[in-house]
Amino acid sequence: MKCNQCGACCIAPSISTIIPGTTSGKAAGTRCVHLNANMKCSIYEKRPQVCRDFTPSPQICGQNFDEAFKNLSQLEIETAPKVLK
Ligand code: SF4
Repeated sequence: MKCNQCGACCIAPSISTIIPGTTSGKAAGTRCVHLNANMKCSIYEKRPQVCRDFTPSPQICGQNFDEAFKNLSQLEIETAPKVLK
């Protein structure tokens, strides 16, 4: 599918690799520093591989930002490392 360019994938998921111009990735639910006010990546041509590897799909992206954010947040929960006690 063609990307909806809603920006949800730049907020909902955690990113563990270093984001260019910073010294870290980002926590789930936090806005990437490169996501501009128009919900577009300001370093799109230089975005990290982890961002390039994300493939939009109807199952994840849904119809709009809210659906994408909900689905991506759920995936984040389901794939988070389990803490052993
Ligand atoms: S670097 Fe660009 S594509 Fe990657 S999360 Fe940040 S704003 Fe989104």
